[in-house]
Amino acid sequence: MIIGAEAAFLLPGGFIANIVAIATIVGKDDIVISDELNHASIIDAIKLAQVKNKFIYKHKDMGELEVRLQESVALVKTLQKSGERAPIILIISDGVFSMDGDIAPLPEIVALAKQYGAITMVDDAHGEGVLGQGRGIAHHFNLKGQLDIEVGTLSKAFGVLGGVITGKKELIEYYRQKGRPYLFSTGLSVADTAAVIKGIEILSRSNGLVKKLWSNAKYLRDGFIKLGFDTGQTETPITPVMLGDENLAKEFSAKLLARRVFATPIKYPMVALGKARIRAMPSAVHSKKDLDFGLSAFAAVGKELGVI
Ligand SMILES: *Cc1c(COP(=O)(O)O)cnc(C)c1O
Repeated sequence: MIIGAEAAFLLPGGFIANIVAIATIVGKDDIVISDELNHASIIDAIKLAQVKNKFIYKHKDMGELEVRLQESVALVKTLQKSGERAPIILIISDGVFSMDGDIAPLPEIVALAKQYGAITMVDDAHGEGVLGQGRGIAHHFNLKGQLDIEVGTLSKAFGVLGGVITGKKELIEYYRQKGRPYLFSTGLSVADTAAVIKGIEILSRSNGLVKKLWSNAKYLRDGFIKLGFDTGQTETPITPVMLGDENLAKEFSAKLLARRVFATPIKYPMVALGKARIRAMPSAVHSKKDLDFGLSAFAAVGKELGVI
């Protein structure tokens, strides 16, 4: 998405990019339809926009999304005041869900949006540099140019800082004129910007790192499964090791750190109560030896705590 978009807008972070992308274009009388597992920054942006009519659909449930769209279309008719623009219906989804690593059914979302006259926004924070040879989820699903708003971060695969919104030139120009966190806050530093440009250059040159990332992810996940761990529904290098109990996850992580493996616990309120986990993130620069070192620490702690 970053590579090859019609227009792009750089902000100091992905969190802020979601705030700008959503709160600048929707207001009280617009309608937002959002996946229940969307990122916290999307949830906060919807709150900030003070949208009265928001619908949260069950994770990736396209049947419920369609019902919500039908309700929204009916609602638009009652909300529209004469002489004013019709309320917007905005569908928002993470591309890759950040805690579980599964992928949104974007082709279905786009088709439903077209059918019901809604606009689409995707937060591809974990897709860029990972899916579609590193070009992101639109490339992965062959949907280039079909998503109205794409948001990304430069803090995940790119390893720096920054947030990006891409879309049509007119939309990006509107954000530039109206986005309050852009107008009233400082931009990215020169050093961070230079590092981001370099990162994009490296990624554009070859997809060797992307390939290595996916082979590392497969190696790590196969290793966890062989040991008897549950890695949930992931379809990407985000590799959760499901533990359930909050305290167990905390203790597991501390014991890993004592063995020189840094893997933070993910627990409530980042995920629902009782769904705590360790989220393991392989990178393209891990060697097989590094991954084996990590897996053996997980094996030892897993046995000690009775998880495997
Ligand atoms: C990390 C993340 C963000 C926030 O990005 P920052 O650049 O760290 O502010 C937004 N959305 C999703 C889905 C993320 O995973």
